[in-house]
Amino acid sequence: MPTVGSTRMLDRLGPKRSDAEFLQSKLKAPGAQFLVLADLKPVIRSNPQRTEAKLAWFTLEALTQFGLPTAEALFLGVDNSGNGYFALAVTEHRTRNVPGAIENLRPIVDLRSLAMQGIMTPEELSLCGQARALAQWHENARCCGHCGGTTLVKDGGWRRKCWACGLEWFPRTDPVVIMLITDGDRCLLAHEHRYADKMYSTLAGFIEPGEDIEHAVRREVMEETNITVGEVPFHSSQPWPFPHSLMLGCVGKAQTTDITIDTGEIAEARWFTREEAGAMLERRHPDGLTVPGKQAIANALITSFVEGK
Ligand SMILES: [Zn+2]
Repeated sequence: MPTVGSTRMLDRLGPKRSDAEFLQSKLKAPGAQFLVLADLKPVIRSNPQRTEAKLAWFTLEALTQFGLPTAEALFLGVDNSGNGYFALAVTEHRTRNVPGAIENLRPIVDLRSLAMQGIMTPEELSLCGQARALAQWHENARCCGHCGGTTLVKDGGWRRKCWACGLEWFPRTDPVVIMLITDGDRCLLAHEHRYADKMYSTLAGFIEPGEDIEHAVRREVMEETNITVGEVPFHSSQPWPFPHSLMLGCVGKAQTTDITIDTGEIAEARWFTREEAGAMLERRHPDGLTVPGKQAIANALITSFVEGK
């Protein structure tokens, strides 16, 4: 199952972003490729059976013919041949008025849905995740948080600068801790009110200002289940561009086992044995209980526990 992660498909060329002349030359070069996000959903191409999907890549000429504004295209990076890749974020309404919209700028599919369906390669899902997270930040960063002035796009979309007070704003990533808590033989999983019926997952929560990862894990677990956590080894991480989070996967050792849940946050929390968690992963639990799919880091954390790692 392909997942949204970090892609090596392109070199992001961070140090060249501030070179306006370089970016313009990449944008106007014949090999330049453009991804269109309409209301943050990529335009894709798929086979008739809809079992495979690819991102649709456009030339600058095609986008200009559609009348789409290319001046604020977001620079994603360059491929091995030096071709520049860009993302153009527009409203779905705007794409509807383009001549030949149905043939050219459809279908558009939500990235999370593409990941769930498993029909796009991890490289393209990840690249689209990079573009989506960046585009969503721009949607919410048009005005300066300091003086309210208009901010202008700089560095191929990797910086905004306030026109009035000059303050600079950078793309935002929100760190989230997600933790598999274990008492050795069992793991702690919870059912949240918003989850599909019978789905359980690892606990998770945003890191607050002034916190380190370990503190955030211990605080979230205490708040939601009243369990005390000791050691917190790091497991793995995953960018999660909905809207622009970074999931920091940890394994926490429980020091207590009596659960008292915060009903405002979660509906139920329970200890599960390795056998039970394994059955949930394989969707053969006798009560029909499940865990998140392989596109989510929670699945990797639970799998690691089931395999005794
Ligand atoms: Zn300002």
